[in-house]
Amino acid sequence: MISRQRATAIAMLVGLPLVPYYLWASLTFHGGAFFRPSLAPSHLIQSLPLPTAKSIAIYGGWLVLQILLQIAGPGRVRPGTPLKDGSRLLYQLNGWFAFWCSWAIVVLVLWLGWISPGTAYDEFGPLLTTANIVAFVFAAYLYVVGRGSSDRATTGDALHDYVMGVSLNPRIRSFDLKFFCESRPGLILWVVLNASLAAAQYQRHGVVTTPMILVNAFQFLYIADYFFHEEAIVTTWDIKHERFGWMLSWGDLVWVPFTYTIQAYYLVNHPHDLSPIATAAIVAVNMIGYVIFRSVNIQKHRFRRDPSRPVWGRPPRYIRTASGALLLTSGWWGIARHLNYFGDLLMGLAWCLPTGFAHPITYFYIVYFLILLIHRERRDHRMCLQRYGPDWEAYCQRVPWRIVPGLY
Ligand code: NDP
Repeated sequence: MISRQRATAIAMLVGLPLVPYYLWASLTFHGGAFFRPSLAPSHLIQSLPLPTAKSIAIYGGWLVLQILLQIAGPGRVRPGTPLKDGSRLLYQLNGWFAFWCSWAIVVLVLWLGWISPGTAYDEFGPLLTTANIVAFVFAAYLYVVGRGSSDRATTGDALHDYVMGVSLNPRIRSFDLKFFCESRPGLILWVVLNASLAAAQYQRHGVVTTPMILVNAFQFLYIADYFFHEEAIVTTWDIKHERFGWMLSWGDLVWVPFTYTIQAYYLVNHPHDLSPIATAAIVAVNMIGYVIFRSVNIQKHRFRRDPSRPVWGRPPRYIRTASGALLLTSGWWGIARHLNYFGDLLMGLAWCLPTGFAHPITYFYIVYFLILLIHRERRDHRMCLQRYGPDWEAYCQRVPWRIVPGLY
C-alpha cells in the first residue's frame, strides 16, 4: 500500500503545479472567471503552453544574470545562525545591489530594443512552463547531490525526499543555493513581470490605470523593503530549518513569480478606474499593513541583537528561556504573538482590492495567504513549544492572542 508521506508527495507534485496553470488559463481564456477544465491527461497536455525560444532566452538570461549578481555584486558578508555543530555559514548580502542592478539591466535591454516592454503578457504561459521545467530538474539535482552531503536527512522514500529536500544548506563552493533561490530569481522577477504587465496594459489600451499603478507600487515597496532588510532573511525559518528540495525551490522559482502576479495580469485586460476615495482607502490599508509588518519584524530583530535597547521608549520586558534565548513580552510582541502576519495580510488584501469585485479569482492571493499564515503560525507554535517548553507556555499565557488581538 502507498504510504501517507508518499501520497502527500505525489499530491503536491501533481496538484500544486496545476494551480498557476489554472489561474493563467482562467485569466487568459475566460476573462478571470472560474471554469471547469477537462482533466483528461491528453487534453491537459495539449493545453500546456510550451516553452518558446523567447521564453527560454528570457528565463535563461534572467537566471544567469541573477547568479552573476549574487556572485559578483558588492555587499556585506554576514554569518548565519549557528548550525548543529556550532559552526556558522557565511552569506553574501548583496540583494539590495542585485535588485537595483536588475532594474537597470531591464531598462537597458528595453532601450536596446531586445524585447518589447509588454512581453510578459504574451510569454506568460511559455515562461511558466520554462520555469517549471527548470524547477523540476533543479530539484532532481538537489536530491542527487543532497544524498551525498554531510547534513543530509533522508526518510528512505525517494519521492518524499525529492519533494521535501535532503540537504539543509546545499552549496556549490560558497554559493548558497537555498539563500539564492529564496529571493533573487523569483522575488525580483515577480515585480519585473508586474511592470511588464503594466506596459502590456498601456500597449493594449493606451493607459496605465490607477489599479495597475497601485498593484505595481505596493508590491514594489514590499520587495524593495525585503532587500533593504536582507540581513533578516538569514534568521528566517526557511533558511534555518527547512530542507531544500522541490517544495521550497519550486515555490521560489514558480509559485511566487507566476501566482503573485495574477492581479497585474488580470488588470491588463480590465482597465477599469478607481474613485479617489477608493484609491485613498486602499492606499491606507496597504500602508497601515506595511507599518505594522515592518515595525513588528524590526522590533524583534533589534531586540534579539541588543536586548537592552528600549522598546517603545521603555526598558523591554521579556522571558529568559532555559535555552538562553529571550522572548520579548512588551511592545508589539506583548500584544499578539504574530502581529507581523496581520500586517502582511492587510497588505495582501490591499493588493487584491484594486482588481474590483467582478471575479473572485483575483482574491486568490489573500485567501491562499490567510491559510498559509494560519498554518505557519500553528507550525511555529509547535516548534517553539518543543524548543522552549514551559517558557513558551508562560509567554502564551502572557500574550494569548496568536495573530489579531480580540479576534484570533
Ligand atoms: P516570525 O518573524 O514571527 O518569527 C517567528 C520566530 O520568532 C519564532 O520561531 C521564534 O524563533 C521567534 N520568536 C517568537 N516569539 C518571539 C518573541 N516574543 N520574542 C523574540 N522572538 C520570538 O515568523 P516568520 O519567520 O514566519 O515570518 C517573518 C515575516 O515573513 C512575517 O512578517 C511574515 O508575514 C512574512 N512571510 C511572508 C511570506 C510571503 O509569502 N509573503 C511567507 C512567510 C512569511 P526563535 O526563538 O528560534 O528565534
